[in-house]
Amino acid sequence: MTSPALQQPQWPDRDRLEAVVRGLESLPPLVLAAECDQLKERLAAVARGEAFLLQGGDCAETFAGTGADSIGGKFRTLLQMAVVLTYAGSVPVVKVGRMAGQFGKPRSAATEVRDGVELPVYRGDAVNGIEFSVAARTPDPGRLLTAYHCSSATLNLCRSLAGGGFADLRRVHAWNQDFVTGSPAGQRYEQLADEIDRAIAFMHACGADPREFRAVEFYSSHEALLLDYERALTRTDVRSGRAYDLSAHLLWIGERTRALGGAHVDFARQIRNPVAVKIGPEATAQDVLELIEALDPEHEPGRLTLITRMGAGRIRQALPPLVEKVAASGALVVWVCDPMHGNTVEAASGQKTRYFDDVLDEVAGFFEVHRALGTHPGGIHIEFTGDDVTECIGGGDHIAESDLTYRYETACDPRLNRGQSLDLAFRVAELYRRHAVSGPHPARR
Ligand code: PEP
Ligand code: MN
Repeated sequence: MTSPALQQPQWPDRDRLEAVVRGLESLPPLVLAAECDQLKERLAAVARGEAFLLQGGDCAETFAGTGADSIGGKFRTLLQMAVVLTYAGSVPVVKVGRMAGQFGKPRSAATEVRDGVELPVYRGDAVNGIEFSVAARTPDPGRLLTAYHCSSATLNLCRSLAGGGFADLRRVHAWNQDFVTGSPAGQRYEQLADEIDRAIAFMHACGADPREFRAVEFYSSHEALLLDYERALTRTDVRSGRAYDLSAHLLWIGERTRALGGAHVDFARQIRNPVAVKIGPEATAQDVLELIEALDPEHEPGRLTLITRMGAGRIRQALPPLVEKVAASGALVVWVCDPMHGNTVEAASGQKTRYFDDVLDEVAGFFEVHRALGTHPGGIHIEFTGDDVTECIGGGDHIAESDLTYRYETACDPRLNRGQSLDLAFRVAELYRRHAVSGPHPARR
């Protein structure tokens, strides 16, 4: 028996919801089942230790943020991070945006009280508006349709950027424009771009001009939270007769909705996309093994990604028993580190923030654990933006707590800005290279 779905909005108008769902069902899918299969193959390579997953984007996308600059900035930052990881870490990078569908948010309370007034909590632009008013906070099913159209516009631009010349490796310098001056991460990136230029010129001189240099593969992902939306975009694949949720290539289940027997896990069992689950510090090895049994009973590499989000202070104790038991079970999952959600703190101003050093420390802990156990640190999952926001503290530009007021623009959790994201990519590349050079811990070889 499946229990009722957690974290669903209280839609006041069920008839309108029904009409919206019918509307969504009649609209074309946003992605194709064959693309989902291709991503599953790429993730299988990650699971085998042959590639690295870079997944990221806003905590919560917004309708207002569905503009060329904001989408382009995120895409470009993801590309820059990927090129740093590929070149400095010497590893193929699978690029997945937390983009084109990340419009629904799980929340810790159903309502929010301000000055004695209690209203429904903001659950993401697909549900209600962030403004604190009755009109904005009342869930509106029509927003699911707008979320679809914003996802479609976002993905359309990303697909063009990925294939239409923008992502050509020979433009590696151009991605860094309007950024170099004064920024340590930007300057470090310029040096790396110079090296890549020389390498490309060398290959050209040798007569090689591979297709892979001209375009990138880009995939979309979001949390499969709002089940009315996800079900309406779930279609039967004519090739295989199997169901795919074609709202994105990869869907994940959040820490709050991953209960076994819950509606979200039940939904994920029924679709053939690659799926992921967030795993917090309270999860037991038994919980994780049961999730594998539910979501990846055939131990198919690439099907299941486990995104651990333990917190810098807990990862070194909490992660090893999980990794050990999963490895012993024979399942070949992708292990990914989300160094954001276990490291959220409240600043004196009351704003949610994260320390860049905590983020780094959790990633370092993730690599340490996998090295000690001889398993593959498969990737990172981050919340970032291409804009110069001031939401997280630290990094090469030394954002201070007092800077949070300058540009704090997130609709939900604090994001790394462009410089912090690039800084992180350089640090992860170093960790990766050290891991690859030294290999698994000697005791495990
Ligand atoms: C998120 O990814 O924004 C989120 C809510 O994460 P988690 O499910 O890990 O808490
Ligand atoms: Mn978040």
